[in-house]
Amino acid sequence: MKLIEAKGLTVRFGGATVLEAVNFAVEPGEIVTVVGPNGSGKSTLLRALLGIVPSTGEVRRKPGLRIGYVPQRLHIDRGLPMPVGRFLSLPRRRGAAEVAAALARVGLPGAEARAMADLSGGQFQRVLLARALLMAPEILILDEPTQGLDQPGEAGFYRLIDEVRREMGCAVLMVSHDLHVVMAASDRVICLNGHVCCEGTPQVVSNAPEYRALFGLGTQGALALYRHAHDHDHEHDHGHGHDHAHPHHAEGGQDA
Ligand code: ADP
Ligand code: MG
Repeated sequence: MKLIEAKGLTVRFGGATVLEAVNFAVEPGEIVTVVGPNGSGKSTLLRALLGIVPSTGEVRRKPGLRIGYVPQRLHIDRGLPMPVGRFLSLPRRRGAAEVAAALARVGLPGAEARAMADLSGGQFQRVLLARALLMAPEILILDEPTQGLDQPGEAGFYRLIDEVRREMGCAVLMVSHDLHVVMAASDRVICLNGHVCCEGTPQVVSNAPEYRALFGLGTQGALALYRHAHDHDHEHDHGHGHDHAHPHHAEGGQDA
C-alpha cells in the first residue's frame, strides 16, 4: 500500500494557482526527491500532502501513517528561552529517555538543557530531525533540510538521514537542491514547476528536456549557477529557520 498518494492535487492561494493537477505517490521505503525553482510549489506540495494547507483533488494517507516532518522554516521566538529538551516535548509530552535517545541518535547526546537559540545551524537541523524521529516515522518529510549549512555540515546531515532511514526502514520525501544527493541517493526524482514537469529515476530526469530547461544543461555547474541566481538571500541564513524574505510564511511548529 502507498504511504501517501495525491491525485489531481491543486492548491490556490487567493487567485494564484500554485499547484495544478499533481499526481504523486510515495511507496514504503522509497526515497523521493522533489526539485524545482524557488516558488515552484515544493513546500506547498509537502504541506498539502501533510494536510496543513487546503487543496482540492485527492490526498490519501495510509490510515494512522506516522510522519516525521522537518519544515523548511521554523521560527522560534528568541525572546523565549527554549531548552532543547522542552522543544522536543512539544506539543506532545515525551519521556526523558526517549528524548535522550533521539538526541544521541542525531549526534547531540546530552543537549537537553541547551537553548534552541544558541545552537548552530547544523545543530538546529539535527534537533528538528530528532523531533521528527520521535514520531517513529514510516515516512520522513524533509523540506530543504540542509539549507544554510556549509558543505561538510550538509554532507554530514545527509549521511545521518541515510543512516536513520536504513535503521527505521522509513520512506523519505525530501526537497533538495543538492544534485549530488539527488543523483546518488534518490529512487525517484520529481521535477516541479507548479505542475510535475517530469519524474523518474535520477538518470531519466537529469536527461529530460523539461529538467534541462529549468536547470540548465550541465550537472553540478548548472545547479551551482541556479543556486547563485536564486538562493543568495539564504547564504547568510545560519539555519535558524527564519527566512527574512518571506516572514509571512514562517511555519510555527506543526506536529505532523
Ligand atoms: P518553493 O518551496 O518551491 O520555493 P512554495 O511552495 O513555498 O515554493 O511557494 C509557491 C508559491 O506559493 C510562491 O509563489 C509563494 O509565494 C506562494 N505561497 C506559499 N505559501 C503561501 C501562503 N500560505 N499564502 C499565499 N501564498 C503562498
Ligand atoms: Mg520551499
